Amino acid sequence: MVPLLEDSFGRRITYLRISVTDRCDFRCVYCMSEHMSFLPKRDLLTLEELDRVASAFVERGVNKLRITGGEPLVRRNVMSLFRALSRHLQTGALTELTVTTNGSQLARHAAELADCGVRRVNVSLDTLDPETFRTITRWGDLDRVMVGIEAARAAGLQVKINMVALRDANAHEIEPMLRWCHAEGHDLTLIETMPLGEIEADRTDQYLPLSAVRAKLAERYTLTDLTDRTGGPARYVRVEETGGRLGFITPLTHNFCESCNRVRLTCTGTLFLCLGQDHAVDLRAPLRQSEADEALHRAIDEGMAIKPRGHDFVIERRNARPAVARHMSVTGG
Ligand code: SAM
Ligand code: SF4
Repeated sequence: MVPLLEDSFGRRITYLRISVTDRCDFRCVYCMSEHMSFLPKRDLLTLEELDRVASAFVERGVNKLRITGGEPLVRRNVMSLFRALSRHLQTGALTELTVTTNGSQLARHAAELADCGVRRVNVSLDTLDPETFRTITRWGDLDRVMVGIEAARAAGLQVKINMVALRDANAHEIEPMLRWCHAEGHDLTLIETMPLGEIEADRTDQYLPLSAVRAKLAERYTLTDLTDRTGGPARYVRVEETGGRLGFITPLTHNFCESCNRVRLTCTGTLFLCLGQDHAVDLRAPLRQSEADEALHRAIDEGMAIKPRGHDFVIERRNARPAVARHMSVTGG
């Protein structure tokens, strides 16, 4: 028997996010630069190796897995990973297997995701306007994402929309997005931009504090705080007029770290202990060292020992460099 995961601050780790690829078919302006260099394919963990690491975490008490990226659904044969991981749902060890996606490949995969036991998907959608969509994602096609969202619904998946709030690009679309989401039965979560990785744009120009967004919405809607806590930076309200849920992810303006329950695995097998810090351990070498999992578990324990108390993101002009150099698409959002 291997012990349950707990870090040096006594926080139980029950949630693993896995970035299965750093590649993507979009180039969202806040996430990537247009000309990204991606990791060589040979550095990636195979899907079987990703399953082995994830399963080691499940053995240690992780009960929620989120598959993300880059765009997870562009990784070749990724459904075989969902299929393999679904066995932990069947045993009850996992309570949730889920995915964060840009929606471009959802039409193709929604039914199979549902068949693998996925119940909810997060789809990133920053605008309902095709032109703005093209401007923000550079390469994306809104129609295709809408078809994907519809396919998800048809497959019985609950859809949560994630919208990054950008001061100039989509601030005026937050309210229409809220109305659309709730009319369609989707929850909406707003996200503040985080200073991750070099991009062409100036982040201080994009940053829109959600405290201001909330105050503005509160002039027109009754927002009732909900107590649901995810162990992450999201806080939820019910919008009484629409009956739907609205989340605010505010990593910059709030401190949520004391209840952090999560760690992140990259597609090359690096375990990051905090989205906003560089503390990490390599799991690929111990994984490949032997077929037994002892070395892997030891490395996971080393990770627990160095998980930092919290992040220290700041977006300000004096400090123009990103808080951490790696992009969100590497660590997995
Ligand atoms: N490609 C998938 C998608 O877009 O949903 C999954 C990976 S993406 C990195 C996960 C989430 O991170 C998306 O909702 C995206 O909008 C968000 N994101 C990316 N870069 C960000 C940044 N610098 N600040 C805040 N959110 C970011
Ligand atoms: Fe791709 Fe998601 Fe980053 Fe957009 S946010 S570039 S869809 S990884």
